[in-house]
Amino acid sequence: MLINIIMSDKTLENKVAVVTGAGRGIGKEIAKQLASKGAKVICVSRSENSCGAAAEEIRAEGFQAEAMAVDVADGQAVNAACEKILEAHGTVDILINNAGITKDGLILRMSDDDWYNVLNTNLSSCFHWCKGLLRPMTKKRWGRIVNISSVVGKIGNPGQVNYGAAKAGMLGLTKCLAREVASRNITVNAVLPGFTTTDMTDALGEEIIKEATKMVPLKRFGTVNEVAGLVSYLCSEEAGYMTGKDFSIDGGMVM
Ligand code: NAP
Repeated sequence: MLINIIMSDKTLENKVAVVTGAGRGIGKEIAKQLASKGAKVICVSRSENSCGAAAEEIRAEGFQAEAMAVDVADGQAVNAACEKILEAHGTVDILINNAGITKDGLILRMSDDDWYNVLNTNLSSCFHWCKGLLRPMTKKRWGRIVNISSVVGKIGNPGQVNYGAAKAGMLGLTKCLAREVASRNITVNAVLPGFTTTDMTDALGEEIIKEATKMVPLKRFGTVNEVAGLVSYLCSEEAGYMTGKDFSIDGGMVM
């Protein structure tokens, strides 16, 4: 315990972080890792129960977290949430755009709703959160934005034109914004997970998981801990010279 305290990395002390999709999976683990480094984390998810439980779990470990239920697909709701967060905390230093959904189907069978829901949840949300929270970062001349994209945005996947378009769009947004805000010492990067064990991949079923594993050179799915470790590094002081980049973390699927 004493060694843990002495060795503990508190380099994000006094930073305020917003993590979307923090109720479960990758987002929850990112929230935990940032909080364990001292950040005060606002856990955003769709349902009050989900982000509430995640924030409670983080607080129970002795770190700082609070919950906020926001439908990130609703631009006006995101704008209102940004105002509320800035009013309450005065600033935000770190933004992780992680909330995402899939609504798979071949294009000829894909409904307009499934197209727009996936675009709004995964991509437009990113625009609204970045726009809503950028100002304090520019004033402080320090900020970290990490957008959780996917290898699908880079190499494609049949049945996911909506998801692939949204995730590729996040890469474009990342690179353009990185150039816009570099002079303010704000870094903007994208992380592209491959298959990572969460509720999202559990929904694929055993047979598809077995087939998918064969496509991965490392022959296994990644863990939320591995993805969150990369994100947490990108939020650190040491990562200050990396911006506009996309980092695949996928067991070797994209080389
Ligand atoms: P997950 O387990 O399904 O969790 C998704 C999280 O996003 C949940 O907390 C959910 O909220 C939240 N969310 C979804 N729609 C939302 C909305 N409209 N408003 C607010 N919050 C919303 O997903 P995951 O596997 O951790 O994936 C996280 C991110 O990584 C996603 O962007 C995904 O596309 C990306 N990714 C995942 C994989 C993978 O293999 N898992 C691979 C590549 C990329 P509730 O908890 O309230 O439902």
